[in-house]
Amino acid sequence: MRALILAEHAEGTVSKAGLEAAGLALALAGTRGDCAFALLGKGAHEAARELAVTYGVPAVAVLGKGLFPPTSWAWARAVWDVFGHAPPEFFAAPQTTLMSEILPMLAARAGGFYASGVEDWHAGQDGPVFLRAAYSGKYAMETAPRVRPVFLTVLPGAFAPLAPVEGAEARVTEARAELPPSPVEHAGWSRPLESGLSLALADSLVAGGRGLGGPEGVDLLRQAAALFPRSAVAGSRGACDAGWLPASSQVGVTGATVSPKLYMACGISGAFQHVAGMRGAGFVVAVNLDPKAPVFLHADVGIVEDLKVFLPLLLKAAGENP
Ligand SMILES: Cc1cc2nc3c(=O)[nH]c(=O)nc-3n(C[C@H](O)[C@H](O)[C@H](O)COP(=O)(O)OP(=O)(O)OC[C@H]3O[C@@H](n4cnc5c(N)ncnc54)[C@H](O)[C@@H]3O)c2cc1C
Repeated sequence: MRALILAEHAEGTVSKAGLEAAGLALALAGTRGDCAFALLGKGAHEAARELAVTYGVPAVAVLGKGLFPPTSWAWARAVWDVFGHAPPEFFAAPQTTLMSEILPMLAARAGGFYASGVEDWHAGQDGPVFLRAAYSGKYAMETAPRVRPVFLTVLPGAFAPLAPVEGAEARVTEARAELPPSPVEHAGWSRPLESGLSLALADSLVAGGRGLGGPEGVDLLRQAAALFPRSAVAGSRGACDAGWLPASSQVGVTGATVSPKLYMACGISGAFQHVAGMRGAGFVVAVNLDPKAPVFLHADVGIVEDLKVFLPLLLKAAGENP
């Protein structure tokens, strides 16, 4: 095995970002047989089976006490307990909160190299060269690690997800990790303040900035988001700092990195700190009063209009053509 994919899953269902990490792993390993998925936590066995059958990549369900609810401490130890005796060259995972903690821990333990926010790669003279954003997206930084293993967290939306294959045989194994008692306790779950899908899972995000002019503008965003299935409301730091949207809605370098199919930026100027979080979006619509707003440089469709004029027109048109 050359590449191990740590695919985060919600009780058996693997996220799109996990499959994108698998896309990079396959590109690095060369063949599906040289990759493997590792699944931990509740539903690991079901997820392993599903992945192995659908994608033709061997999958390992890692079982053990203390793996659910997850803590990075327990997961990192479990992964090393199972794979550390013969580690693959590459470990790839989606850039999520949990994986951004686990992979650096593993790299430190293994004496390897950790690269976060991987957006692209190419073959160099002595192995792969990884591209990451530097200075909040102003530059792309190229890194060629000469040490192994290499641990990579992958920016959502940067790579094509692993494609399914027909008629694959399910190669699933189980491995049991022996873990010491954890010094880190899972203290509970809490729901995000904003109702609706989490930013990471939404196919469409309708985002608002300071151009909303106040909390009353947020209602327009909610109504616009409701036009699209699997949607959520997001915001710039300007709107979150003003208290119009919860901090959990913030997109950007100090907020979430998102890769929805549709991103509607309403009254957002397009500061590079914001754009760094939404560059992975499939299609971007920007609504802004200022025709020179930088956000238009990143938009597929630009609408120079007051959002309080445009969004009601959009809602009316959608109501007339449901
Ligand atoms: C270290 C650091 C980290 C940061 N991290 C983040 C981050 O993670 N995310 C983030 O978003 N920002 C971040 N920022 C802040 C960032 O630099 C910008 O200040 C912020 O993104 C601006 O938010 P905005 O676009 O909502 O507001 P503004 O820049 O004030 O833009 C408002 C826009 O709305 C338009 N507008 C006004 N009225 C209307 C209307 N009625 N209809 C349509 N358009 C209208 C205006 O033309 C303008 O373009 C960070 C800054 C620093 C220094």
